[in-house]
Amino acid sequence: MEEMTASLLAFEIEGLTDEQIRQFINYYNILIEWNSRMNLTRITDPVEVARKHFADSVLGSELLPANARVIDVGTGAGFPGIPLKIVRPDIELVLVDSLGKRVNFLKEACAAIGVDAEAIHARAEDAARDPGLRERFDVALSRAVAPMNILLELTVPFVRVGGSSLMYKAASVGEELSAAESALGKLGCRAEVHPFDVGWGARSIVRAVKLKKTDAKYPRKAGSIEKAPL
Ligand code: SAM
Repeated sequence: MEEMTASLLAFEIEGLTDEQIRQFINYYNILIEWNSRMNLTRITDPVEVARKHFADSVLGSELLPANARVIDVGTGAGFPGIPLKIVRPDIELVLVDSLGKRVNFLKEACAAIGVDAEAIHARAEDAARDPGLRERFDVALSRAVAPMNILLELTVPFVRVGGSSLMYKAASVGEELSAAESALGKLGCRAEVHPFDVGWGARSIVRAVKLKKTDAKYPRKAGSIEKAPL
């Protein structure tokens, strides 16, 4: 697994301890093992996983306040939540996905690599109505889940006023952001774009800062959100 270690070091996950490198390698191993039985990722080459899953996920680290309570919505195989928790053990992490098999993977993976996170099997639309989860987080994360106008309705209800939704997006985010203006207004958010230009590509993380409490009617039911985005 020298290739993975070298990639982690080369692709700028700076200052990793030996223990964190071990955690990433164990994460890679269990991801590949489970991926042979179920669909978790189409990226399997160790260098590519180190870049496109691990290093990419970690980009948001500087946008997480110390000791933040964080929820990763539509986390799939654990991205970006698990790599962030490896490099930022101070955060408290909840992972949510609507696919039960993926949640089984998340529980096993966290146990195997020694990451303390709660994994919940639910649709975001339902989980956001749970009083234990609604407006209880400093940060909601999401990567590759939905266009921004839909994603805002799925993530902002989890965030406390003053907290933020961090949406991992492509470098050119202008059009998607314009299409989300109305959703930002209805959900009481102000958006800022954080561009990242890393050796292997460019991307942006859009941070929507929540300025007021979410109206009880949001999120609407699954289906209505996609049919008529805010
Ligand atoms: N975030 C991961 C990543 O970047 O690799 C996974 C991306 S995958 C394309 C989208 C994931 O979102 C899937 O695992 C899917 O089950 C989940 N998902 C989609 N809509 C959801 C919803 N409304 N609530 C919870 N999970 C959802």
